[in-house]
Amino acid sequence: MPERFAHSFVESRASWIKKQLLLQQKKHEAKQIYTFETGERIPFLGTELTLSIAEKNTKTLAYRYGETLFVSCRDADKEKIRLAIHQWYKNQAKILFEREVRILADRLDVAVGKITIKNQKSLWGSCSRKGNLNFNWRLLLAPPQIVQYIVVHEVVHLIHHNHGEKFWSLVSRLCPQYQEYDGWLKQNGFLLDV
Ligand SMILES: [Zn+2]
Repeated sequence: MPERFAHSFVESRASWIKKQLLLQQKKHEAKQIYTFETGERIPFLGTELTLSIAEKNTKTLAYRYGETLFVSCRDADKEKIRLAIHQWYKNQAKILFEREVRILADRLDVAVGKITIKNQKSLWGSCSRKGNLNFNWRLLLAPPQIVQYIVVHEVVHLIHHNHGEKFWSLVSRLCPQYQEYDGWLKQNGFLLDV
C-alpha cells in the first residue's frame, strides 16, 4: 500500500471511529435510565403506565390496575423490581402475540406452531422451519403499529420462508406502512428497554 494511501486510510478510519463513538454517546444520552420509583412512567404500547412501588411482605410482583403498574416487594431492590416488571411485560406479550398471531393466521389460513416470548436485546421476532414463532417482549415498549408489523412479518414467514419479492408483497398488502415501521425499529430499537 503506498504510504500516502495508507495514511489517508488510517485517517478516514479514525474519523469513522470518532463518528461511531459520538453516535454511541448520543444513543446513550437518548436512552432513559429508570430508577423504579413511584411516579416514574414506563412505555407500554404507545401509552405510558405510572409505577407505584409498595413495600409489602410478599415476593416481588408486578400487576397493572388501570394506568398504574403496581410493584409489591419486600425490599426496594431495584434489580428485583426490574425483573418483576420484565416478567409482567413477558406475560402481557404472551397474551397479545398469541391473540394477534391466531387472528392473522386464521385470516391467511396458515398453521402456527408454538409461540414463545424471548428476552433479547435487538432480535424482534423469528420463525422456525417448523412454524414456531418467537417474539421479543420488548416490542411492548413500542407503539402498537410496530407490534402489528412484527406479527405480520413473522406470520407471513409461515408462508414465505425468506425475504423474497413474494414475502414483501404480502407484507405490504397486510401492512402498507411496513417500511416506515422497519425503519423506526432500526432507529429506535435500542431504546426499547427498561
Ligand atoms: Zn424476516
